[in-house]
Parts: sequence; structure tokens; C-alpha cells
Amino acid sequence: MPKAQETVLEIDLKALKHNFEYLKSITQKDTKTLAVVKAFAYGSHPGTIANYLQDLNVDYFAVAYVSEGVALRDAGIVKPILVLHPQAINFKTLIEKCLEPSLYNAKILNEFISVAKEEEQSNYPVHIKFNTGLNRLGFGANDVDYIISKLEETNSIITKSVFSHLAASEDLSEKDFSRQQIQNFESIAKEFSKKIGYQPMLHICNTSGIINYPEAHLDMVRIGIGLYGFGNSEKENKNFKPIATLKSLISQIHHVEKGETVGYNRAYKSERFIKTATIPIGHADGIGRQYGNGKGYVIINDKPAHIIGNVCMDMIMVNITNIDCKEGDEVIIFGNHPHSASEFSKTAQTISYEIITAISLRVKRLFLI
Ligand SMILES: *Cc1c(COP(=O)(O)O)cnc(C)c1O
Repeated sequence: MPKAQETVLEIDLKALKHNFEYLKSITQKDTKTLAVVKAFAYGSHPGTIANYLQDLNVDYFAVAYVSEGVALRDAGIVKPILVLHPQAINFKTLIEKCLEPSLYNAKILNEFISVAKEEEQSNYPVHIKFNTGLNRLGFGANDVDYIISKLEETNSIITKSVFSHLAASEDLSEKDFSRQQIQNFESIAKEFSKKIGYQPMLHICNTSGIINYPEAHLDMVRIGIGLYGFGNSEKENKNFKPIATLKSLISQIHHVEKGETVGYNRAYKSERFIKTATIPIGHADGIGRQYGNGKGYVIINDKPAHIIGNVCMDMIMVNITNIDCKEGDEVIIFGNHPHSASEFSKTAQTISYEIITAISLRVKRLFLI
């Protein structure tokens, strides 16, 4: 790759392939793989990522909202797409685009059955979501009979899978809780299958679930963050390659004398002579203000340069006093481990998921193939 001449998010499809193959290699042999490509494929580029994974023979995709599923269909995705959190207002579109809803409470189940009927569907595939401890979305264990009664009243829909989501799959100090969730899920699923008289697919593991609970891979696993290069622990990160590198360049260098200030609100007051570099990336590009005032740092010629003063909408200023660099030199905001989005996010007390999904569409995506 030539060095950055503007702010770009470089996306390495070979790294994506590596991560996908690594995850497959640690997944039970008969378990299907669902790729989670919600939130712009974790801030990258959903059309390109999903098509690449479709060519690698992934079994399923998932997105959060119907609009994201529509975008995948429009980008040429023909594999099944699970919509994790659909709203009733979009059910007609969902059916039109052959997207498969997660149904998580009585209201959404009944609304979907009524739209499926109206649209003259039969055996339209749906996924029933159970809450086993996250307390976010999902039916309770006591709802099985109610769901079955609704399903038996109609031939408009059919249960393709039953699933749940772990609350703390990356947290080894919560192993007992996760094991309990898995056990609760298995008992709900068993009761459900017995009462409905056929065997829907079962799934509960996200990336960290795959790593930490190999006994719970079941029929399918839902891989998100791992595809994008993060294993949710320093040890696991070694097995993954971040697919995205956020790069920019130095627009201008300033010499700031003792007593001068840098940036809006004069937030940085210099106690000695320093050199600063101004970089064309700001909070409108996804680098939030919480990274400012000495917290976050970027890499220039292999050295860390801390953000000084407030993050502006379109710029940051970094301290380069001890770095040999010039205007036009490349700046890495995050990229490979160890200077990854996961490390960068820690400087503002957040997690890789947040920073990678925050990189705004103003930043050009470039692909390495
Ligand atoms: C986002 C999401 C996933 C993917 O989780 P990762 O930790 O990114 O692997 C899986 N399942 C559900 C229900 C999700 O919302």
C-alpha cells in the first residue's frame, strides 16, 4: 500500500480470510457459521465484506436492522440473512427482501404472523429468541407454550432456529453464569423442539463463546468481532488479524512556546517548548472527544504521539516533540496488534467494538486484496 495521502480506512481482505479460517478451525466440524455484519460490518464495508464471506462459503449472515439486510441484498448477497432486531413497521420490506426476523416477544411475534398472513406467506422462516440472562431481548422460559400455541394456529411461519445470547462470554470470571445460561438454553430448546415436533437449529455462541465454550457450539455459531480481528483478550488477539487500519498524515507542524496554548478552549497550556502535528481526523470521523487531552495517541514513525487539547470536528493535534517527522508523514491511528483499535480504545476506557463501528462514512474505505 502506498502511504496515506488523506485519511483512509484500509481494509485487508486477506486478514478477513485468516480470521474466518481461524474461527472455522476452532469451531466444531458440523457447526454452521453465521457472519454478523451489522453496523456497516463493524464499521468496515458490509457489501464487500459479506460478498467476500459469501464466496468463502459462510452459511448465514446477521444484521441488526431491516435496512441493513436490504443493503446486503442490494449488494448481491443471496445467503439467508437473520435480522436480529427488526421492527414491525419494516416487516413488508423484510418479506419482500427474503430476510428472516428474530422474534423476541409476543407483540413482535403476533405482528409478524399477521403481516406474513397478509402477504400470503406459508412457512416463512423465523428465528425465536430466548432471554437466558442478558435481559435485553427474548422470550422467557415460561413463554414456550404460548409461542407453540401461536405457531400451531398458523402455517404462515416456521421456526428455522431457536437462539439465545451470552451476557459475558469473554469474561472468564463469569464462567458459572455463562454455563448456567447455556444449560437454561438447552433445556428451553429441548422443550420447544419436543412440543413443536421438529428440530429447529440451535445457536448461542458469539466470538468469545466459540473460544470459551466449545461444548456449546450447537448447530451454528454467530461470529462478529473475531472476523474483524479481535479475540476479546490479549492472549486471543494473537490468533486474529485486525482487518482495518485507520491511517492519516501530518498536515502541519507547529512550534509552540512555553505559555502558549493549543486548540479550542485553550485546553492545552504548554509548560515548555513543544512541537505539534495537526492531523485531518476528528470527532466527525469517529475519534470522540474522550480521546483528547492526553488520553489517546497515534503512531508516527513507530513512536506514540499523544493527542493534546480537545479533539476538533475535523482535526486532532498531537505532541511530536520527541519524534523525528515532517509534514506529509504517515500517521497510524490504529491497525495491527499491538497498536490495534483494541489498544486505542483502552486509552478512552472503551472497547474495540465501539471505536471500529464509530469510524464515520466520511473516511474513505480502501481495500487490500
Ligand atoms: C452482535 C451480536 C453477535 C456477534 O458478537 P461478537 O461478540 O461480535 O462475536 C452475536 N449475536 C448477537 C445476538 C449479536 O447481537
